[in-house]
Amino acid sequence: MRALAALVVLIAACAAPDAPAQPAAPPPAQQTPAALPSDPTPPPAPTELTLDCAGAFTQGGIALCRTRPGARIEVDGVPSGQADTQGWAVIGFTREHGPEVVVRAIGDFSRVGGAGDEAIVTPIIRTLDQRYAVAPRQFDIQRVDGLPQNTVTPSDPALLERIRREAALKAQGFASVAPIEGFLDGFILPIEGGRVSGTWGNQRILNGTPSTPHFGYDIAAPEGTPIHAPAAGVVTLAQTDMHYEGGLVFIDHGQGLITMYLHMSRLDVHEGDRVTQGQVIGAVGARGRATGPHLCWRMKWRDRQLDPSVAIAGLEQARATLLARR
Ligand SMILES: [Zn+2]
Repeated sequence: MRALAALVVLIAACAAPDAPAQPAAPPPAQQTPAALPSDPTPPPAPTELTLDCAGAFTQGGIALCRTRPGARIEVDGVPSGQADTQGWAVIGFTREHGPEVVVRAIGDFSRVGGAGDEAIVTPIIRTLDQRYAVAPRQFDIQRVDGLPQNTVTPSDPALLERIRREAALKAQGFASVAPIEGFLDGFILPIEGGRVSGTWGNQRILNGTPSTPHFGYDIAAPEGTPIHAPAAGVVTLAQTDMHYEGGLVFIDHGQGLITMYLHMSRLDVHEGDRVTQGQVIGAVGARGRATGPHLCWRMKWRDRQLDPSVAIAGLEQARATLLARR
C-alpha cells in the first residue's frame, strides 16, 4: 500500500501544471518520500540467530530477510555478504533459478575469556537454514529490428576497445555495497505513465541475431520524460555517453541491490550523490542500443539480474510481512 501511496504523490507532483521542470528545483515528491504515518515501527532486530524471509519467490524475484545483525548470509551455498546493523538482508533469484532456494544465516557467538594478554577466544559459530519454493516463469521470444548494427555485432577494433573500457566502468559501479537501507523504502515506478515495450527475461533476436535474454523492463515514453529514483540510494555510476546504454545511471540501494537506468538523454545526478525516493535523476532518451525513446530499467543483486517489475510488489509484500512480525 505504501508504494501505491508514494506513487500517488509522484503522479500528483508530475501532473501539477506549474510543477518545476528544472533539475535545479527539487520536485515536491523529493520532500515527501519514505515515511508515511501508518508505517509500523520495525520490530527490534533479533539477538538470537533467527531467519525470516519474505517477498517475491519467483525466477527473477527478490526477497528481504531479517536475522541477527551482522549474520553472514549464504544463498544456494554462495557467500552473499552479511545482514546490516538492523539485521536486514536482501536476496535475489536468477532467471534460471531452480524450484527451491536455501538461505543460510551464520552467526558468530564466540566468547572472549581471560584478561589482557591472557585473553582466550572460544569460537562459537551457529548456522540456520531456511528453504523456500521458487516459482518458475515462462519467457517469450522477442524480435527487435532496426537497431544500429554496431550495437549488435560490433567489430571495429577501436569500438571493441571502447566497449572494454566501459565494461570496466560498469564493473566499478556494481562493486558498491553502500551501508544504507533504501531497499526498505517500498519501490515506486521510475516514470509516470508510458507504455511497457519490453518485459524482462525475453529471449531476444536483435537484427536477426540470437542474443542474450533481455534483463530490463522497458517503458516507452517521450524523450525528456523525467526519471525518478524508485527508492533512496547512492549514485555509483553516472555516464552520459556509453556505447550500448547512452546516458547511464546506477543507484545502490544497500545490501548489494543496484538499479540501472539506460538510454537517458539527460543526467541530473553525479557519481557519489545521495538520492531520495522520487528525486529526478535525469530524463528518458533513445541513445545507445535503442530504436526509440524509452527507459530500460534494470536491477541487479550482487551478480544476479533481477526483474524490477516483480521487485516493486515483492519488496512491498516483504516489508509488510517482516515489519508486522513481533
Ligand atoms: Zn531494455
